[in-house]
Amino acid sequence: MDQATLIKNVVSQVLTQLKAHNGGAAAPAKTSQPAPAPKPAAPVKAVAGKGAYGVFADVDQAVDAAAASQRKLIAAGVEARREICSMLRQIPKLNADNWGAMELEETKVGRLDHKIAKLQLLQGIPGVEYLETIAHSGDDGVSLDEYAPWGVIGAITPVTHSVPTLTANAINMIAAGNALVINAHPSGFNCAKYAAQVYNRAIAEKFGIENLICIIDPPTLRSAEEIFKHRDIPMLVVTGGPAVARAAMKQPKRAIVAGPGNPPVVVDETADLDRAARAIIDGGSFDNNLLCIGEKEVFVVESVFDKMMEAMARAGAVRLNSSQIDRLTKAAFAWANDHFAVQKELVGKDCHVLGEAAGATVNRNVDLLYGETDESNPFVPEEQMMPFVPFVRVPNVDAAIDMALKHEHGFGHTAIIHSNNLATITKMGRAMNTTLFVVNGPCTAALGAQGEGYPSFSIATPTGEGVTNPLTFTRFRRVAFSGSLRVI
Ligand code: NAD
Repeated sequence: MDQATLIKNVVSQVLTQLKAHNGGAAAPAKTSQPAPAPKPAAPVKAVAGKGAYGVFADVDQAVDAAAASQRKLIAAGVEARREICSMLRQIPKLNADNWGAMELEETKVGRLDHKIAKLQLLQGIPGVEYLETIAHSGDDGVSLDEYAPWGVIGAITPVTHSVPTLTANAINMIAAGNALVINAHPSGFNCAKYAAQVYNRAIAEKFGIENLICIIDPPTLRSAEEIFKHRDIPMLVVTGGPAVARAAMKQPKRAIVAGPGNPPVVVDETADLDRAARAIIDGGSFDNNLLCIGEKEVFVVESVFDKMMEAMARAGAVRLNSSQIDRLTKAAFAWANDHFAVQKELVGKDCHVLGEAAGATVNRNVDLLYGETDESNPFVPEEQMMPFVPFVRVPNVDAAIDMALKHEHGFGHTAIIHSNNLATITKMGRAMNTTLFVVNGPCTAALGAQGEGYPSFSIATPTGEGVTNPLTFTRFRRVAFSGSLRVI
């Protein structure tokens, strides 16, 4: 089956399901039988305005097409936006197995079960319901505080969650009345392009709007720069590591930056160690530790250190000894000028692959490796994105918090504590000053999995917007009716 037919099938399944969902007569599509796994998308010739469904080789053409589609979106009204958001949640859910496999095959980082879970998590991405008007009514009339769109937003997406980030950004931004132009990571581009085309085609068939989610083919540093500098893009949203975060913050326009993290975990003597072990495994192993919020290093107070290591083993993690850790460290990092560089070959790989590098035989069903290191091992300061988590022995909880602060590097991203001492929890929360602070759970608790709150795949950290939602992508607008409209 060619790519166009695949896209058509996916779109018709979704439209049928939506019709059923909205009370139409059609039978619901079978969610258990998604479309056949698409091969990585073949290059599509981008022809502006002629069925490119959002794919453009040229940034100017993409921005023009997105701007025209954004105007149509506003004309279509808020209920159309609500339906589009619903489609963008249902399409990846309907195709989670195939799209997860497609993303893993292309990016070669992470785990299939969690690639699928991330596509399903998109169900929880908030939409137009976040745009609540606030009214002020008094003797001098009525004022309405409304949320207006920016227009066309430039988005840069990472390889770690290519389709989920594109989709979550699109739901939030379209809910807020915007269109977007995306520069995807080159190693996760084909699956992102495929998803964008499916989404645009579904939106076009229902609403006649073809290019709300534009994507540049091929994405390059130059096209990223063109998006950064484009005069018709008033807002940027960048999700990625330190280099792109720095580049975005230099631009003379509004930038929302979802930057890197290196989340530390502190375990004190009052913690429920078995619960802490399960949480560290759940969070640190998720998608082979690709999450920017994932547990990356653990500081445990001396008095419970050995018990904590036993709890990790009881919970199913596999402990590496010091010579195995040495071998793994040499394979995982190379000294480059003045810092350790993470070796890409091991990023996001399974435990048994890391085990081989460490000279250990590890079963394929193991979720997480761990072991004792000192603070200077590069697994502690570097954002390794591998399912090996170093545990550092510290004399007391104050030393643990100090080390956590040091190795978070001021990213202001995520920190985690396992403790039943409220004073200690409070002290760490204040000291870390991170966007996300998780207590007695896995990192995912901060995004609504084993915790409360809505999810997002762009946690804006240096720029402070936090867990992005539709309001993040709006402009505040007040309309004041002076001396009128008050009816009491
Ligand atoms: P990356 O920085 O290598 O790439 C991210 C994106 O930026 C890609 O599209 C890439 O092509 C682009 N890019 C890189 N350098 C650039 C430059 N100088 N100018 C313009 N574009 C540039 O990151 P990655 O490996 O794709 O993703 C992992 C990183 O992203 C980790 O550091 C992780 O913590 C971070 N991340 C953060 C969040 C968050 O919500 N805060 C979410 C996911 C990932």
